[in-house]
Amino acid sequence: MKTAIAIAAHPDDIELMMAGTLLLLKNAGYEIHYLNIASGNCGSTTWSSDETKRIRLQEAKNAAQILGAHFHHPFCDDLEILYDANILRKVAAIIRDVKPTIVLTHSPEDYMEDHVNAARLAVTAVFARGMANFSTDPPRLGDNYDCTVYHSLPHTLTDNFRKRIVPGAFVDTTSVHEKKLEALKAHKSQQHWLDVSQKMNSYLQTMEDIALKVGEMSKVFKYAEGWRRHQHVGFCAEDADPLRVLAQDYLINKDYEASLDTL
Ligand SMILES: [Zn+2]
Repeated sequence: MKTAIAIAAHPDDIELMMAGTLLLLKNAGYEIHYLNIASGNCGSTTWSSDETKRIRLQEAKNAAQILGAHFHHPFCDDLEILYDANILRKVAAIIRDVKPTIVLTHSPEDYMEDHVNAARLAVTAVFARGMANFSTDPPRLGDNYDCTVYHSLPHTLTDNFRKRIVPGAFVDTTSVHEKKLEALKAHKSQQHWLDVSQKMNSYLQTMEDIALKVGEMSKVFKYAEGWRRHQHVGFCAEDADPLRVLAQDYLINKDYEASLDTL
């Protein structure tokens, strides 16, 4: 069976930006996997780190269950997703176990460095999937096969210089929007925290607003997620674009394609 994995930084990131596409891939016959690299331990102003970690682990497991995704345990704390070999070996072991042909991850430009580093770790873990001399933690044998990496839009839909990021393709998430919302609701602890810390007056409303805005950008869909496909060298065939399996729910952004430069 073909597999797809979403690799994000924190509990609830997948639900905010990637879960619609993941759900549609499941409907298309993919086995889907869910990894937050960090525990979410900083996501509270009232509970201790350990308490927050415990609560958010359960919430993330519940969310993965709602999505029907295989859950992978986080292995570091918030603000500690560093681009280092120890974390990379752990992400790479999961890639070798899961053998995804589609990897969904954060935008390489995003408002939080944890997101940026999660994206970089996901990219290199895939790049190293067949490198026999790169040892993973736990040790896993490598395998060279085609795997395509897609970057989600940043939560703000802009880069850090406030410029809009234009996706290369849109996925119509309207049919799975309710399920995506249900999975996001599993992260109950985040309602208060995001109010206080990031002025997201409701994290549920934030997801709704983002999905509507991306839908509007598509000019076709009500709710959408946007993706930029990572270039192919070291990953897959040049024209590989496996999200095409989503058929009528997948829309290539022709303006983006037209703006691309080739050698
Ligand atoms: Zn995050």
